[in-house]
Amino acid sequence: MTPALSTVLRRRFVVTGVVQGVGFRPFVWRLATSLGLAGLVGNDSAAVFVEVQGAAAAVDEFARRLAADAPPLAQVASVAWDELPVAPSDGFVIVPSRVADGARTAIPPDVAVCDDCVRELFDPADRRHRHPFVTCTNCGPRFTIIRALPYDRPATTMAGFPLCDRCATEYHDPADRRFHAQPLCCPDCGPTLRFTDGTSGPAAVVAARQAITAGQVVAVKGIGGYHLACDATSAEAVASLRARKARGGKPFAVMVRDLDAARALAEIDDDEAAVLTSPARPVVLLRRRPEACVADGVAPGSPWLGVLLPYTPVHHLLLEGGGTLVLTSANRSDEPICFTDDDEAQRLPALADAVLTHDRPIHVPCDDSVVRVVDGRELPIRRSRGYAPLPVELGASGPAVLAVGGELKNTFCLTDGARAYCSAHIGDMGTLETLQAFERSVAQLSGMRAAPVRLAADLHPSYLTRSWAERHAGDRPLDLVQHHHAHVASLLAEHGRLGEPVVGVAFDGTGFGIDGTIWGGEILTLGAGSHRFTRAAHLAPVPLPGGDVAVRNPRRMALSHLRAAGIGWDADLPCVAACGAAELRLLASQLESGAGCVPTTSMGRLFDAVASLLGVRHAVTYEGQAAIELEALAAAAPLAPALRMPGLDPGPLLAGLVDGLRAGVPVAGLALAFHAAVADAVAEVVERVAGPVRLAGLTGGVFQNVLLLRLTGQRLRERGFTVLTHRVVPPNDGGLALGQAAVSVLTALDEQRLIEEG
Ligand code: ZN
Ligand code: ZN
Ligand code: FE
Repeated sequence: MTPALSTVLRRRFVVTGVVQGVGFRPFVWRLATSLGLAGLVGNDSAAVFVEVQGAAAAVDEFARRLAADAPPLAQVASVAWDELPVAPSDGFVIVPSRVADGARTAIPPDVAVCDDCVRELFDPADRRHRHPFVTCTNCGPRFTIIRALPYDRPATTMAGFPLCDRCATEYHDPADRRFHAQPLCCPDCGPTLRFTDGTSGPAAVVAARQAITAGQVVAVKGIGGYHLACDATSAEAVASLRARKARGGKPFAVMVRDLDAARALAEIDDDEAAVLTSPARPVVLLRRRPEACVADGVAPGSPWLGVLLPYTPVHHLLLEGGGTLVLTSANRSDEPICFTDDDEAQRLPALADAVLTHDRPIHVPCDDSVVRVVDGRELPIRRSRGYAPLPVELGASGPAVLAVGGELKNTFCLTDGARAYCSAHIGDMGTLETLQAFERSVAQLSGMRAAPVRLAADLHPSYLTRSWAERHAGDRPLDLVQHHHAHVASLLAEHGRLGEPVVGVAFDGTGFGIDGTIWGGEILTLGAGSHRFTRAAHLAPVPLPGGDVAVRNPRRMALSHLRAAGIGWDADLPCVAACGAAELRLLASQLESGAGCVPTTSMGRLFDAVASLLGVRHAVTYEGQAAIELEALAAAAPLAPALRMPGLDPGPLLAGLVDGLRAGVPVAGLALAFHAAVADAVAEVVERVAGPVRLAGLTGGVFQNVLLLRLTGQRLRERGFTVLTHRVVPPNDGGLALGQAAVSVLTALDEQRLIEEG
């Protein structure tokens, strides 16, 4: 029955957000078809466009369900519509992609292989049985294979794999789960998996599995790069892996087959289970079970274990028979992840005994993400695969800014209109390889986005990122953003609260201060606009004797803190006992003369000092090690004596800890008392400097410490503050670029306003 002409409408919709590569067009096709509507849907480089024509009620119903029923991986940012004249129209079609100018659509992140595809993977009757590249519209690689927008197969690294007839039929059938799934393939037309010994396809997985069981370290090409895999229960294999990576004592993550296997290794609550099995499949830091069956070398001395579940078909095949694999990025510890054929030829031979590889190129590298789960929410430690490059909405549209980030855990951030696109994890700057990875990623992201007209970098004069920005700025403005200011701005930005007055607590290891000293225990107030800050309070400064040496040796920080507090270096104190006589003499003369000593207000260094004072750790092999162990000890303590740190002066607190040690109070209780005293002190000082402001934020790497985060948040909420903590970008320097970008955009908007006001 044809509806009366008067009730027929034609309406055009433009949908923006993460709407490409997530099954949006097939969803629109099914929705329109089920409502009996005619019209078309297509991608351009900025959006999905739709035209529907039919009965008014059906068009209204379509409009209602367009955003509400969108596919699970889609993130609709906006839907705009207008009326069109009714046109002759027959059926509903998907039209070829077209390229438009202006704003660009968001690039979707890589997504774990879905349950439907895993079922096919293990179904002997399915034509993709044991096919290592099984994927559909709802899953698979995206960000790491996209070379250009709009997202269509020819613009991906699947371009070299023409569809066979059967796959083409699925691709063109709107009722099929693989309708317009760009990475779609099968054993006849897809990439080929190969193992070092010459085997290919599913047999290559079997051979790789055997090599791992035999104790070898096997490189496995994955989504965003190569992993190194070995048997997590083999002490020799783990030790060999650790030596090749030059990794120190930093824990490795492990991969197991499923949630049940993960529960045998660690305690997992419902929230943690949800994150472990989410489409992003990050490494989740979990409380390790004492009986967990992994070699000591996997996470030496750590009460936590990083666990992740399979997210590619190859992982599922490798773990089909169970087992626990160490899975870590293939690189030496100070270099970026291997991801190219060149890397495979040049860098992998020193790292792995064998390689399980394939011929689908990886366009951009992307490490695994790492999160903790706090009170049901993710606390990102590293934001990369599964999350990058989803944008953060800044709430204000400004010029395109490239913020180059910090020096360690580098990421960068590119703004386009009101959106900030944060890169995947790049790594620690300082090697040529890292700089090259940085430049390649900048070129890739800015090639798909607006060309930056303004740059932002950290104030630190010796950060390589800052000198890179200075070299590349040309005549574009370069904003140098103070480190802790950027931390606070990143927190505001991810909460959509830029421009709101806030008291920001920025605690970390090291950041260059505007007075040339090393900051890191900062309480900053940001007024309306967020692009300026006042240093309202800070930890009392102590000398950092010998820079990096003191960072690697918490015992030296302990002695510096004791001296500043007027506490004698008595041999009964663990940190004093841990130093040799020569070291004590050297340190005494260094602190006496001030030679090679820079004043620091670093909270990270205070955590180091207390860890050594309590005998927890005197020297570290990776960043944050002492603080992590101190937190673990404190978290296990039943109760704690009350200690205080009035006005952010650690002196009285250290004296209290020394008294406690001498009175035989268990160190776990003292560790907890220390955390509580810091939380109390922060709440008091924030209250004192806040004035009428009731918004507080906790940021900086020290707030990866969940115990401190919880205690401080509680104390502030008791005083009536709304407390912001990180959920989108890491509190550590991995989140710095977002804050730099936000400050730069707001600075530019402020300059514009001043010019307009004359
Ligand atoms: Zn799938
Ligand atoms: Zn095929
Ligand atoms: Fe920092």
